[in-house]
Amino acid sequence: CGIIGVLGFHEVAPLLVESLKRLEYRGYDSAGIATVNEGRLDRRRAVGKLVNLSDLLVHEPLAGKAGIGHTRWATHGAANLGNAHPHRSGPVAVVHNGIIENFRELRAELAEAGITPETQTDTETVALLTRMFIDRGLAPREAAVATLKKLEGAFALLWLFEGENDLLIAARKGSPLAIGHGAGEMFVGSDAIALSPVTDRITYLAEGDYAFVTRAGAEIFDAEGRRANREETRIDLSS
Ligand code: GLU
Repeated sequence: CGIIGVLGFHEVAPLLVESLKRLEYRGYDSAGIATVNEGRLDRRRAVGKLVNLSDLLVHEPLAGKAGIGHTRWATHGAANLGNAHPHRSGPVAVVHNGIIENFRELRAELAEAGITPETQTDTETVALLTRMFIDRGLAPREAAVATLKKLEGAFALLWLFEGENDLLIAARKGSPLAIGHGAGEMFVGSDAIALSPVTDRITYLAEGDYAFVTRAGAEIFDAEGRRANREETRIDLSS
């Protein structure tokens, strides 16, 4: 329901949680974050209010300067810990807003490849597919694009990868996603409000776009895979 991503200079866990708080108005049943710390991918998730996630992080902190976060409003699978985002398979973590309409077909395809889901969500199929492509030798960027081609529905997606301290991959189809530009830091959010404490420089992805985001900036592509120039706008932080 709410998505945030940060490639920062400092520890990102507190900022991820603070940004998720700004998205609380959308409603949610569980929340989670994932970070990459010196190449190592890890995650923390909690059912219920964000305070449960912050409490967990006090006891089990999550280091790292790159991360993603999510507040979930369950559509497929109960609102329990196993179904909470980020979803992970091997080196891949993903957060997702919306619905992957063809997830049953995708699960059947994964089953043929000997891959079994561990959750009831539509989202997990995205993580499993991306991992499958990585296992077949694709780099994270190629694996995410190959995965995207298989997805039907309305969604916003954000990927984070083990071994990649400086990469987020974002995709938008039917669900908004905004890229925030900092000074050497980059952000992704399901709306500009989530990003307003950190930057007023926003690029909205257009329908069907995907983006490779690093601290150096964002490379945006349209649904056909052509480089796209999307205008950077300034949002008014006073409103
Ligand atoms: N369909 C996904 C799920 O049920 C994402 C729901 C959301 O937008 O939060 O996990």
